[in-house]
Order: sequence, then C-alpha cells, then structure tokens
Amino acid sequence: MKMRGFLSGAALSVLMAGGASFAQAQDEKAQQVLFTNVNIFDGFSDTLVMNQSVLVENNLIKTIGGNDLTGSADAVVIDGGGQTLMPGLIEGHAHLMLMGPSLPAMEANTTWEDFAIHGVKMSEMYLMQGFTTVRDAGGANAGLQRAINNGTILGPRVYPSGAFIGSRGGHADFANFTSPVGQSTNMGRLNMAQEADSVADIHKFGRNNFRMGASQLKFMQSGGAVSAFDPWQLLAGSQEEIEAAVQVANEYGSYVMAHSYRKEAIMTALNAGVKSIEHGFMFDCEVADLMKEKGAYITTNLTAFDPGLLEIPAVKNVAASLRKATSASAAFVNYIPNMKKCPVKRAFQTDCVGDVASCNKQIAYEKYLNADFFDPHTALVTLTSTGGELVALSGDFMNPYPDGKLGVIQEGAYADILLIDGNPLEDFSVMGTSDKWFDGPLRPESPETITVIMKDGVIYKNTLN
Ligand SMILES: [Zn+2]
Repeated sequence: MKMRGFLSGAALSVLMAGGASFAQAQDEKAQQVLFTNVNIFDGFSDTLVMNQSVLVENNLIKTIGGNDLTGSADAVVIDGGGQTLMPGLIEGHAHLMLMGPSLPAMEANTTWEDFAIHGVKMSEMYLMQGFTTVRDAGGANAGLQRAINNGTILGPRVYPSGAFIGSRGGHADFANFTSPVGQSTNMGRLNMAQEADSVADIHKFGRNNFRMGASQLKFMQSGGAVSAFDPWQLLAGSQEEIEAAVQVANEYGSYVMAHSYRKEAIMTALNAGVKSIEHGFMFDCEVADLMKEKGAYITTNLTAFDPGLLEIPAVKNVAASLRKATSASAAFVNYIPNMKKCPVKRAFQTDCVGDVASCNKQIAYEKYLNADFFDPHTALVTLTSTGGELVALSGDFMNPYPDGKLGVIQEGAYADILLIDGNPLEDFSVMGTSDKWFDGPLRPESPETITVIMKDGVIYKNTLN
C-alpha cells in the first residue's frame, strides 16, 4: 500500500518536472483500490447499505457493488471488516489562516509567515480529523490550496474566498483604532481583509479576489461579538453594494457567501442573490421560504447557541465582547426550533479563529452539537452531501475540483472516503466528537474510530492493515 505522507524532495521534483516525466506519469496504468466488506453511508440515506464493495480508480469512485465486485489484478484491496464507508467530511466555513487571538493582534503583530505556518498546521489537522474538503470563509487566497494540491503539505481540498469584503467599521475592518479611512493595512496588503465602502470598491476587491484564486466571495453584512467596532446587529452594505458583490461573482459563474445575523440582513442578502447565508442566527420560517425559492444554503456555527460561548477567552476577557455575546445569545434562542420546524439545506460550520489545538476541540464539539441539537442522520447529511452541493455553487469556471461530486458515495464522485469503526447513524461519537468545548481534554491527532482517510484516491491514514 502506497501511503503518502509528505512527498520527498525527489518525488516532488518528478511531479514538477517538465514535459517528459509528466507525459510518462499520464501513461501510467490506472491505479485501483478496492474496498470490500463495508456498509455504505452514501451522504443521504438514513440507513446503511450493507455488505458492499467500492472500487476506486485513480481519484474517482468507479464502481459500487456487492461483495463479488472485483478490480484489476494489481488493485490494492482493503478489507473493511464490516466497517462503515462514507464520504469525507466537508467543513463549510473555516478560517485556515487566522490564528487569533484577536483581530487587532493579527493586524498589528503578524507577518505572512505567521499566517502561513498556522495555515499549514490547520490544514493538516483538518484532514486528519476526517475533513477532505474545507471552504475557507475569508483570509486564504490560492497559495495554501496550491501547496496542498501539489503535495507539498498535507490538507483537505480548499475553496478559498480570498479577502473578506466589508465596510469601514464592519466585521472585516481589522485596522487600528486611529487608522485613517482607506489607509493601507497589514490584512489588506496580504489580501486577507479589504475595506470596501462603495460599489466601485466591491467591484475592485471582488475581482481581485477571483484573480488571486478565490472560488467564491465573502461579504460581511452583519457585525460580530469578538470584533472591535461593530454591533452584531449591524446592517452593513446597501442593497446596491450587496448586489455589486453578486454581480462580480456572476461574472465568474460563482456566488457570494454573506455573513448575516439579523433577519433583515438575511432577507436583503437573499433578495440580492446571495446563495450562502453564513451564521444566519435569526433564521425563521419566512427566511426558509425565501431560501427555498432562491436555491440558497445556510451554514451555522452551533456553538453560538451554547452557554459555553460566554466562557471562551476572546469573549469573556473583553467587556464589550461579553456584553455583545450575551445579547446575541438571548436573540438567537429560536434558531434550533425554527430549523427543526422549517428545515433548509444546512452545511457544517465551525468558524474557529485561534490556535490549532483549540480549533481541534471546537471542531469535535461542533460535530457533537450537530447530532445533539438535531440527530445523527441530520448531522451526517450536513457534514457530507449538503456541503458538497454548497461548494459546487462555485460553478464551472471557478470550482477548483470540477471533475466529480464531493460529499457523496456515488459512481463518478471524487474518491474522498472515510472508513469508520462503528455505525455513526446509531452512535455519532465514532465521528470523533467531544461533548466538551474549551475545557475538554486535548484531542488526538486523528480519532481512533476513523480508520481510513482517503482524499482524491490517495490514502492518508489506514490503521486496518
Ligand atoms: Zn467566519
């Protein structure tokens, strides 16, 4: 079994070498991996399909069949021993580059090296927690994705948004308190956050994001709890400005994800053509109706509904943030009941900004909350097929991974596959959950119950043989 850790310098140079070796690699015989004796969760169903085999050829799922399915003579066979085979997980909203501890600290005291090193460690952590795809919701351009795709570092597929786009004083404003309007910032120079105060600014920065490898745009329409200048209730950006972001996205055949808290913000975004509502804490059945009409998705960090929110250091230690978070918690109480009453297409979101060990805990807790607030089946669909549909909204031109579906076990889909020791529809803890947030123990590098991690046909973990 060829297991790829970090590619050695020699292997890399072969991959990167000129025409001859590349053509040689193309001519190589198709590589097959045959998973036998597995029960399949396909990304949708509330029951497992028992006693199946899955044949992977190169980076795609070729055939799904019974235990009589065979591959080529030299296919690598992995006996699943009755374990669950399911799609790799999809994170709908992460910030791989942002290490915290606060927005002002990242503006004032960081260089590109700090961000890059953090991004490398976060990417590795995500992959080993079972995530084969991550949509980055602001801060990452194409460099991280490139390093992962060419095998230089370990990580999931990445859908970057480039710089957050937001108004002066809004949730994407990282500038120092006395910094004049329009002055160059650290985050702006790195194209991680851009201040946009007009339709023209939005055109400029939106197009620049796509130029720098974004697969979709991120627009900051509401405020937040841990940012410096913005009430969470903020309605930032006129209808015209949000439509300008949608227009730029449409030029590229892609879409806008909008950071929206209040119902007014959500409705404005949807009416402007935004396809992905981020957080959407004041979601209700009227929002659900408009979302369905518009074919929109929502991703929500469920930790926002946890009393533990008020205990995280970035909130607890800053009086203004604590006050904002307390009022937000009170305003968000109807989200879960509304989502149960009027369910919509909802993808997974962790939204961690912080050190890798803390984010690892938060991911495990966010997994847990998805099954606890809802149920294991809902959590699994959220983590797989819905996330796959969401990232595919980046369209034919900007989708960095256009050759197959993500988040499903289907013939022709990408071979992003987990083997799980147990049935997660019955016991969701086998997905590597934690019922504690920041006060929980450090998480393992990879959950023991996730026995195989395959991304793009390459195996990154296999404890079976
Ligand atoms: Zn976010």
